[in-house]
Amino acid sequence: MEKEVKTICPYCGVGCGVIAKVAEDGKVSVKGDPDHPSNFGRLCSKGSALGETVDLDGRLLYPEVSGKRVEWEQALDLVAQRFSDAINEHGPDSVAFYVSGQLLTEDYYIANKLMKGFIGSANIDTNSRLCMSSSVAGHRRAFGSDTVPGTYEDIELADLVILTGSNLAWCHPVIYQRLAAAKAARPGMKVVVIDPRRTMTSDIADLHLAIRPDSDVALFVGLFEHLIASNAIDQNYVAEHTNGFAEAFTAASGVAFNEVLELTGLPAMQLREFYRLFATTEKVVTCYSQGVNQSSSGTDKVNSIINCHLATGRIGQPGMGPFSLTGQPNAMGGREVGGLANMLAAHMAIESAEDRDRVQRFWAAPTIAEKPGLKAVDMFKAVADGRIKALWIMATNPVVSMPDADTVEAAIKACPFVVVSDVLENTDTARHADVLLPSLGWGEKSGTVTNSERRVSRQRSFLDAPGEARADWWQLAEVARRMGFSEAFDFGSTAEIFDEHATLSAFENSGNRDFDIGAYVGINRRSYDELTPFQWPQPAGREADVTRFFAKGGFYHADGKARFIAVKPVASDRTNADYPFTLNTGRIRDQWHTMTRTGKSARLSSHIAEPFAELHPRDAIEIGVGNAALVEIESPHGKAVVRALITERQARGSIFVPMHWNDQFAAKARIDAVVAPLTDAISGQPASKNVAVAARRF
Ligand code: SF4
Repeated sequence: MEKEVKTICPYCGVGCGVIAKVAEDGKVSVKGDPDHPSNFGRLCSKGSALGETVDLDGRLLYPEVSGKRVEWEQALDLVAQRFSDAINEHGPDSVAFYVSGQLLTEDYYIANKLMKGFIGSANIDTNSRLCMSSSVAGHRRAFGSDTVPGTYEDIELADLVILTGSNLAWCHPVIYQRLAAAKAARPGMKVVVIDPRRTMTSDIADLHLAIRPDSDVALFVGLFEHLIASNAIDQNYVAEHTNGFAEAFTAASGVAFNEVLELTGLPAMQLREFYRLFATTEKVVTCYSQGVNQSSSGTDKVNSIINCHLATGRIGQPGMGPFSLTGQPNAMGGREVGGLANMLAAHMAIESAEDRDRVQRFWAAPTIAEKPGLKAVDMFKAVADGRIKALWIMATNPVVSMPDADTVEAAIKACPFVVVSDVLENTDTARHADVLLPSLGWGEKSGTVTNSERRVSRQRSFLDAPGEARADWWQLAEVARRMGFSEAFDFGSTAEIFDEHATLSAFENSGNRDFDIGAYVGINRRSYDELTPFQWPQPAGREADVTRFFAKGGFYHADGKARFIAVKPVASDRTNADYPFTLNTGRIRDQWHTMTRTGKSARLSSHIAEPFAELHPRDAIEIGVGNAALVEIESPHGKAVVRALITERQARGSIFVPMHWNDQFAAKARIDAVVAPLTDAISGQPASKNVAVAARRF
């Protein structure tokens, strides 16, 4: 019998609703869900090809220990034993979980609860660290909480949309479709794209600012100064709802217009036009993504943008606000349950003794992590130098996706005990596992995800679990029970986990914390199954009328006010005589992450079949490569070889290489082996957009 199920696309943070149909012959097809309020039926190429990626080719179907099939009991006993041994011998900080924005919120919740409340360490970090942790840090500095103030609708309602560090057309295609439709309906709407590279997104731009890599802070500090000089400040909003304006003003005053020109490399006319547009347009949304976040100054970039919105009071109102576009399908859900090494749970702060006490009491936990744990790059450094004795990697492929990937691979190889939970048997990371645990994939697993506009949706299963694959939350709970924590991990379904998560979000929360989905406390299996998409907050007993934050203040610092952050531009050119090019890595339209799923679709692979390096024509002449010639990209950390794609879209001195390819699809194309493990000092997010490299004909 045919069946249709409403679920969610598992790729990007747009979080589109899809209707998956399983035909009588077992074939899966998908279409956009017209009732889902984030996409209204739209899908992009990746989402519409989902049905082509659900075969069992390469699937891990049974637990394995040292490459041999074993029973679940044996594998789980071994994992629990080796983690307990490491903790008993070396302490709780000798173990770590490295998880993923691909996990569902319920999986994340259990992983975080086990590590922070029962093992007693905060060594749980996620590949979301690579994606949006600078936004989290920037939000927390400015707002006192990790809150995205606006909604997708604001992008359609704005008169000026600024896209900075975002190739929206390829990386968040359905939001791009919504923006393009809004601009077509209201041609007066202006779009400014800020990106060193002229991407497909620039095609919609009224103004493209090809700034130098990492000069965003200079650009927005200059804008802040201009807003003051042109009397565009909302004095009432600043006085009533913010602190720190004077310090930010002093910092901005020290940056002359000519200095901004020099740092950004922009023509004066373009810079003036951008500043004029921002100053004179009331409804402004500034969307930012990895070009902002993946930087050694990522947190300052975020705050330099937020400063301009706070100064003009353009936040939390229809068509106004800073907007972080998160990369992964459930990076937001992971943040909500505290799945980052520097967060606790339900948006509570690990640094706060009161929050730690509240969470420990709620969990009836024997302990609670007292300090932030290791962030992704530092976690793998700790694996490399032997501090981590047992590591559990779930739903991610760090041997391909982490910066300095060769060193990460060597560290994983040398780690005394590595567990990998994955859907595939032979990823670059799974190859080094002592224990391999088969997980459920999209279409098989069930739970919730949260997208970039704080909308929680149900991901629903419609396929049988293949082989002996089991949910990630189940694997974690079984190990927790074997470690002696039976009662706290006695969950029979994701509905029960979601109920506990909702209850924690409301626990002793009288509105003084942003994250509250307490309306779903007491949810049962049936109502959970029928859950329709909703945006938090949803405090119990109140209608879902709050979809935006901060129009009238109400920030989450103790005094209820936002903070301006006095940011200063820093020089960003890392090139030198040996490494004269700036490497920028990113996504392409039709692939997702390390291609473990999208790589299965011939249709998607036909868009761009091979990895490439985008080079400016004059740079190509200088290094002696023609179009499609092989070019070797090298940094002190590693090398990759890809084909040259010569285009004037690329700025001189810069090279763009997609992040997706790994040894399975193209030998020597693992570009993250070249990326330096340099991070933002506050967020710990790697600087994958500005890496000094050499390039030569191969
Ligand atoms: Fe999936 Fe993102 Fe495409 Fe929507 S925009 S269909 S969530 S990949």
